[in-house]
Amino acid sequence: MSGLNIVIVGHVDHGKSTLIGRLLYDTGSVPEEKLKEIENTCAMLGHKMEFSYVADALEEERKKEMTIETTQTFFKSSKRDYTIIDAPGHKEFLKNMVTGASQAEASILIVDVTRGAEEQTMRHAYILKLLGIDRVILAVNKMDLINYDKEKYTRVARQCEKYLRAIGITLQHMIPVSAYNGDNIVKPSQRMNWYKGPTILEALDSLDVIRMEYDFRLPVQDHYTINGDRVYVGNILSGCISRRSEVTVYPGGENAVVKEILTFEGRLEKACRPKAIGLILSGFSPKRGDIIARGGRPTVAKNVRSTILCLIGEVRENESYLFRCTTQEVKCKVRRIEDKVDVETLERLPSTGVLKQAEIGTVYIEFEHPVVLEKVIVLPELGRFVLLKNGIIVAGGIYYG
Ligand code: GDP
Repeated sequence: MSGLNIVIVGHVDHGKSTLIGRLLYDTGSVPEEKLKEIENTCAMLGHKMEFSYVADALEEERKKEMTIETTQTFFKSSKRDYTIIDAPGHKEFLKNMVTGASQAEASILIVDVTRGAEEQTMRHAYILKLLGIDRVILAVNKMDLINYDKEKYTRVARQCEKYLRAIGITLQHMIPVSAYNGDNIVKPSQRMNWYKGPTILEALDSLDVIRMEYDFRLPVQDHYTINGDRVYVGNILSGCISRRSEVTVYPGGENAVVKEILTFEGRLEKACRPKAIGLILSGFSPKRGDIIARGGRPTVAKNVRSTILCLIGEVRENESYLFRCTTQEVKCKVRRIEDKVDVETLERLPSTGVLKQAEIGTVYIEFEHPVVLEKVIVLPELGRFVLLKNGIIVAGGIYYG
């Protein structure tokens, strides 16, 4: 079975870093020297091993190595490899989630049992739902602080479950844990005999993530001329393509035939996702931002109604923005902001014509030229987009169809 990308979300201080540190430590994913270093630091500071340091220390390490993906962390179970993408402590977390820079397939929502769901618990849960990440495990943390009490756990778990159900997320598992002590993270707890369910790792292993097969889609990144032939390059987002196949280029809908498929390894008869390829076509010459497709027709839209999350500054009615989705960049205008969501009560508030930072609302956007979209649940890469103002990403949007 292939790997799984997960994201760990929840309110600040509810225990995300500690949970990550615990998962890494208990699955033996922390290098020996690193552990010694952390243990020494903790001893020097005169306290017990602090597991949130594990996550932080590994992040520091990667930054020093200047790897591109500074936000990814890895661990393994006997069943598969996991990548923890991003953590809400990171400045860019929400932006990465909404823009699709981080593609999570499942999530752990962590809640401090002594505090219950707080503002960010709900905001993050709401964003999971927006992004179509519907495989969610609830970790009710800091059970040690309430003496591993079943009644208090049940109360908090029910509160969270009720909220999640209201936004349309059905929890896969609810698990009482102490990230600090390692209860029910990788090892089953001896202190909660009343709990008969899986540990966090077992719950993750039990998730059945089916990657939907979808029609061939390739956003054109660029074109080069090689030995007199024009080669259109890009990453295959979904599906496969063979030589001599007929394709359609959107948004225009023009037809072409694949003459050759080029890769760094040479010419291929067939190429599938995920792969960077170059295509030589006959019949039509696409440009950057066009989507080469085969199979069903994508959505080609001159305007769209969408849910957006303002990431920085504000989004205003009747203002112009640059829409970007994969390699497509098109000028647009937010014609109307139709409502605003209160993530705590889930009420739709009347629009004031502006969405401020962290606010979520429904907008109606008009494009200068048609754009190509797919429903986010079908093909996230073509279902998520960003709006830019003066070169800065101010909002992330989702297309539901
Ligand atoms: P984050 O902001 O969500 O990443 O939270 P942290 O992992 O940094 O944890 C915040 C504080 O809660 C730290 O002082 C942790 O030591 C503490 N903490 C985290 N998990 C537990 C737990 O299971 N039990 C107890 N008693 N403290 C915890």
